[in-house]
Amino acid sequence: MLTKAKGFLQSYFGFDEFRSGQDTIIQKVLEGKDTLGIMPTGGGKSLCYQIPGLSLRGITIVISPLISLMKDQVDALDKAGIPSTFINSTITGAEMRERMSGLYNGKYKLVYIAPERLETDYFLRLLKEVHISLVAIDEAHCISQWGHDFRPSYLLIRKLINRINPKPTVLALTATATPQVREDIRQLLDINADNTIVTGFERENLHFHVVKGQDRDLFLIDYIRKNSGQAGIVYAATRKEVERLYQLLKAKGIAVGKYHAGLSEKNRGIYQEKFLYDDIDVMIATNAFGMGINKSNVRFVIHYQIPRNMESYYQEAGRAGRDGEESDCILLFAPQDSHVQSFLIDQSEMDEQRKENEFGKLRKMIAYGHTESCLQQYILYYFGEENAPICGKCGNCTDDRAQVDVTVDAQMVLSCIRRMNEKFGKTMIAKVLTGSSDQKIRSFGLDQLSTYGIMNNKTQKETMEFIDFLTAEGYLRPTDGSYPILMLTEIAGDVLRGKEKVMKKENMRITQIVEDNMLFELLRKLRKEVADGENVPPYIIFSDVTLREMSALLPKNEAELMQIKGVGERKLEAYGPTFLKAINQYCEEQGIARTEMSFPIGQAPKKQSERASNKEPSHHITHRLLEEGLSIAEIATERGVTERTIEGHLLKCPDDGLEVDWSRFVPTEFEPSIQKAVEQAGLERLTPIKELLPEEISFFMIRAYLEKQKA
Ligand code: ADP
Repeated sequence: MLTKAKGFLQSYFGFDEFRSGQDTIIQKVLEGKDTLGIMPTGGGKSLCYQIPGLSLRGITIVISPLISLMKDQVDALDKAGIPSTFINSTITGAEMRERMSGLYNGKYKLVYIAPERLETDYFLRLLKEVHISLVAIDEAHCISQWGHDFRPSYLLIRKLINRINPKPTVLALTATATPQVREDIRQLLDINADNTIVTGFERENLHFHVVKGQDRDLFLIDYIRKNSGQAGIVYAATRKEVERLYQLLKAKGIAVGKYHAGLSEKNRGIYQEKFLYDDIDVMIATNAFGMGINKSNVRFVIHYQIPRNMESYYQEAGRAGRDGEESDCILLFAPQDSHVQSFLIDQSEMDEQRKENEFGKLRKMIAYGHTESCLQQYILYYFGEENAPICGKCGNCTDDRAQVDVTVDAQMVLSCIRRMNEKFGKTMIAKVLTGSSDQKIRSFGLDQLSTYGIMNNKTQKETMEFIDFLTAEGYLRPTDGSYPILMLTEIAGDVLRGKEKVMKKENMRITQIVEDNMLFELLRKLRKEVADGENVPPYIIFSDVTLREMSALLPKNEAELMQIKGVGERKLEAYGPTFLKAINQYCEEQGIARTEMSFPIGQAPKKQSERASNKEPSHHITHRLLEEGLSIAEIATERGVTERTIEGHLLKCPDDGLEVDWSRFVPTEFEPSIQKAVEQAGLERLTPIKELLPEEISFFMIRAYLEKQKA
């Protein structure tokens, strides 16, 4: 059964292998078993119903709350040569009639509908007249009151299924994995626990970072400039903040759009389309944006403020790198921002028990901002993967920034707060410290304090950031409410008494996510032209991964092009000649002589799918190159990734029994100091060990040393 499915995977979608979990889910569906599939955002849920949809005799109904996604999916299916349509509130009466009649006449294999459609009797009657073999329920957590996005109309799905005769197979899909939600979905849809497939939640190509105690605006501008031309989403908590950031970035000449519920539907649509069509690079948005955005080439997702829980975070951050290319997920963390989320929970109409549940989730989100351990591991633990390894590539795993002693500055701030009787918020404190002539300061007599103007060598903004840093590090505790007052904590007392030092890391270094490549840029332009001609978003024509593979492997003819990931039969026919012409022309101009296309080690930019598809995993390739005598820097250049990524790969090798000569990475003269630091700080966490060592000993050296000891 799966052989046929695999044939469809290759001929329609141009992919060689199923990703982890896809094959099992598809197998169960083809056997007629009602199934629940749980996969992370970007994990590849759509194929789990699209391929059975193609294989099974009747029609597949796909229920999704994401109206904007439907058009996208239908466009993509159309380009792959699969007859499908969608029926929702965005189409005209005439279109509706035409599509209903098409449905009746068996014109489509897949039909996408919004759950509200199930409220219309006419539609339900029509469904009884046709052969429905599969009902796929996307975003299935919407059926659960415990999910973060409950939709009452989802409860009608059961009624729909009961009415259809013979009973169709049911496939529920979601990225939400909490046991409570899982159980709810199973119960409400009558799905057997044995038929629940949970794939790993790891997204190998995502690099997580938490940035704190740093000027967020400056970081954002620097980051976007460094990665100019790349698509990204910046999430902010409020409409006001979206507007502010939009103006800020626009003034810096960045091609930016905005999206929030305060904009008219028309304006939202315009910005969204510009983003999808690569006409703007960066979208600044509230969490209203993104549900149903399928754009696969989003290279970064930055959260300007903390979201309300890890589910939302992973879902939003997961919109980066759907295509499997290396992508960044960055949280700009300031602990006081959690007050906005607390306030929203408090003001909501949830009952007390649910509120408590939500507060608990928010606390775990805040802890993510504070953790010094591996960020990916934290996320995976949260989603129940108890054996998740450290990733070796997130901001915490790769953190080798130097620390600066800021105890004196901290003492100035803390003693000023004490003198202000712990009754004021961040702005007033910063004003006093920098000696502001604000009327309010004088009216409270704060200009008489000995700490007034004590930090007048700094701007008020810098001082406020430093206060944010002290809050993030737990020296200050903000009270609840929109304008929190800052109180001293117990460790602040130790700092004031000179018993505790305060160390601050340098600002985070910003690196480019993907290297520039001339042919890739050329193909990207060509893709944009073709897409504009067909009025679809560029990623629907070919994904970034496909273009990258083309630019690395330089296919000469159709047979070779067909071997490129993401090139199926229909796309080969439609776009093959155009892209081949561009590649051949480029090679001629550059004087590149090509022999038969092969997949040289490390050249094909196959990342996520290669790993999930049982082909040689990325870290095995790195291992092989290392064995061939290449250095980390050389492997990084060869593979077009950062040295950090290569280090991360090496750290994964022992799990697969691959031997690494760790002594290559730890200069012998460092070994005694590392050993001493390990004895002193224990093995529980790496940061305390690192803190005891000189700067030139990196985290990776420490890890390599520990691995060497194990071997
Ligand atoms: P989800 O719905 O789980 O968020 P999608 O179904 O949108 O994810 O898939 C994410 C991306 O992964 C898409 O660009 C899709 O083309 C790609 N993809 C899915 N399955 C495979 C596969 N087996 N091999 C390669 N790419 C795949």
